[in-house]
Amino acid sequence: MSGLAPGILRIPTRGDGDNCFLVTDEDGLTLVDVGWKNAPTVIRHALEAEGRRLEDIRRIVITHAHPDHVRGLAELVTRTNADVLIHEQDAPWLAAGRVPRDGRSGRLGRTIDRVPLLHWQPVTATATVADGNRVGALRVIHTPGHSPGHIALLHEPSRALLVGDAVFHRGELATGPDALAADPAVRNASYARLPRDVTAVGFSHGAPLLGGETDHFATWLAGAADSAG
Ligand SMILES: [Zn+2]
Ligand SMILES: [Zn+2]
Repeated sequence: MSGLAPGILRIPTRGDGDNCFLVTDEDGLTLVDVGWKNAPTVIRHALEAEGRRLEDIRRIVITHAHPDHVRGLAELVTRTNADVLIHEQDAPWLAAGRVPRDGRSGRLGRTIDRVPLLHWQPVTATATVADGNRVGALRVIHTPGHSPGHIALLHEPSRALLVGDAVFHRGELATGPDALAADPAVRNASYARLPRDVTAVGFSHGAPLLGGETDHFATWLAGAADSAG
């Protein structure tokens, strides 16, 4: 666990590579994504180290309904009674407990979605969110393509950006595998929607970029947006 920006903690839930984020809001804690099935226990330990409890989580925002983000969700909802928020285009996936057959552009993606280990206990969202909505201190940015309802979140007080799976940072910045995205062309077009004047970038997969390191992100994003036309 480490600070991403004032008011935001990064909690690695598997090794140091898969992250969820905890945002302190005036009315309680907002969790961004959950993780695999082990994540609720990891999150509980992280909260206890801060002198907080799992029950302090007031709402859980899901960047998109992929198993590595939501497999631990049902258990966490049971333990926290938190509200669950997701974009309306991913809400049916979350409620179905799996990525649908047309949810990935490539055969590899469709094949792995048949594996029971990549299904999850269905969760009905408390409410859906749309582009421009505010969730506590976070502003929703709809960035479709990785999934139809994928969202990034901008923490307005600090201008830290949580990109979900819109951009991966495993060693280097990358779009992620096309076969696992619902629509790679739509994903690439979404890069123009992400702000570049940010103070920190939190990735669901990989190490964060802080301070001056965000220049590298801005440059990469400009190139990705340009090549998408
Ligand atoms: Zn994903
Ligand atoms: Zn992911």
